[in-house]
Amino acid sequence: MEGSVANGVSAPLPGRCAFYVAKKKRYCKMIVGSGKTFCGEHANAGEESEKKRIPCPLDPKHTVFEDHLAKHLKKCNSKEKPKPIYYVKDINAGSANEDEPIEEVIVLLMRACESRFHGFN
Ligand SMILES: [Zn+2]
Ligand SMILES: [Zn+2]
Repeated sequence: MEGSVANGVSAPLPGRCAFYVAKKKRYCKMIVGSGKTFCGEHANAGEESEKKRIPCPLDPKHTVFEDHLAKHLKKCNSKEKPKPIYYVKDINAGSANEDEPIEEVIVLLMRACESRFHGFN
């Protein structure tokens, strides 16, 4: 990157944590292991700022990482009544395969979630 000097202020120093400490107006100076971007303290903070948390479609009282949603929905404590699509799929399939129908439920939920929280950030 031209014009950007890796001085820990405009860009993180090489081999140092890439977490920007807003309060100090510079990047964290902790040395990180090779291949790592953030120090132990900021590993979570970095992840959280990159990943988007969305309200759980089954229970908006708690949130879940967007990319963990599919996984979460399978074990969410708020999972109760199956959606109508589940019945349809279940009847058609003849046998109850838990994995396939849930994918469709997830798609529906995500769609419902998108329209419901559209414009809501
Ligand atoms: Zn750090
Ligand atoms: Zn949940």
